[in-house]
Amino acid sequence: MAADSNYGTLDPVTGEWNGIILELLEEKADLGIADLSITYEREQAVDFSLPFMNTGISILYKKPQKQPPSLFSFLSPLSVEVWIYMCAAYVGISLALFILARQNNKSYRLTPLEWVNPHPCDPNPKEYENQFNFLNSTWFTIGSLMQQGCDLAPRATSTRMVAGIWWFFTMIMISSYTANLAAFLTIERVESPISSVDDLAKQTKIKYGIVGSGSTLAFFRDAKIATYQRMWQFMEANNRSSTPQMPGPYVKSNMEGVKRVQDSKGLYAFLMESSTIEFFTERKCDLTQVGGMIDSKGYGIAMRPGSPYRAAISQAVLKLQETNRLLILKSRWWKEKRGGGACKDEGGGSSAASELGLANVGGVFVVLVCGLGIAIFISLCEFSWEARKIVNEEGDSFWKGMLREFRSAVRTSGNTKPVKRRYGSSVARSESKL
Ligand code: GLU
Repeated sequence: MAADSNYGTLDPVTGEWNGIILELLEEKADLGIADLSITYEREQAVDFSLPFMNTGISILYKKPQKQPPSLFSFLSPLSVEVWIYMCAAYVGISLALFILARQNNKSYRLTPLEWVNPHPCDPNPKEYENQFNFLNSTWFTIGSLMQQGCDLAPRATSTRMVAGIWWFFTMIMISSYTANLAAFLTIERVESPISSVDDLAKQTKIKYGIVGSGSTLAFFRDAKIATYQRMWQFMEANNRSSTPQMPGPYVKSNMEGVKRVQDSKGLYAFLMESSTIEFFTERKCDLTQVGGMIDSKGYGIAMRPGSPYRAAISQAVLKLQETNRLLILKSRWWKEKRGGGACKDEGGGSSAASELGLANVGGVFVVLVCGLGIAIFISLCEFSWEARKIVNEEGDSFWKGMLREFRSAVRTSGNTKPVKRRYGSSVARSESKL
């Protein structure tokens, strides 16, 4: 490492080099061996061997946390619009069934079959009855939507046609829903706010930075592409407004950048060379590379201009490359030695089938409890409505009468109870309907 711990950049104002390049030029070192990129600017000042490793700038960022499946993930197999259209279709078909079944009077007999004699033993009934009142129509459609069916069956061609087409619709919808359901129940979404350099350039919430004296800085400084120019200006602006509490985007070393990404809770991304990213992500499992490489370059061994070692080193690099030695060495030092390969087991097994927990299917229980709650509420309303009528007839106070009716309702054992005809015609009529 150079005394000033820089890789080497040319000061455009003074024309002075720093870092490894300066030490070579000042003859303090014979060879510069590091993750030192071969660049045109450096090549003007020093000599480089052939590249021994290829790399390119990419993004080092915090690995996104897996989001547990949402409580209502059972809704996810269909999009919101499809759910809305399904509700609309349900209401529409229920109405259509109701209206088509109703179309019947002496002059206009569209579906006479839906009006039947309620007492088949009586050949001259006073009234015909239609089973498809509005409630029964909705019950029929919900029964088939839930694949359960119900006791009602349409008789007329038109209502049978509606029922048939609705059954076809529900068959396709339910099959599609079921086919998608398993994936959505088990899925743990991994969401990252950025997925490429363009995403990073478009936003300002996540700050980003680079090593302050390397080829990556030179790349952004001299960039001609608008996105990279914008990123350079953003970093420069951040650098100008930096304070000890809010340090600027540039760091002294890759290690410092890595530490900052780890500590920043996703608010700092580090633009770094892909081979170095690979090295760190093998060890620090909370980090990951985001997106691909935005340029392409190689690491070479730097030496003074006209150095006698150049040909020999370049030949050695070529030989090591052709005999796969470089690949073997990279694999050993990246993935095996010094903590390499620590994140190998991460993320494994996620595709394996696993049992569903409450987090996956909890929403179904919520729906069940809510449905039960609503049913109890409706039942209470019905009870108090009917009881109120009885109470009025008995002349008790409301609460006293209600309590009496409740007690007698609870005390009733078995599944039968006597018909109380003395409550008047309205009760008698409703009983006869049942
Ligand atoms: N490899 C770079 C160089 O040679 C240093 C790291 C960087 O700039 O990202 O300057």
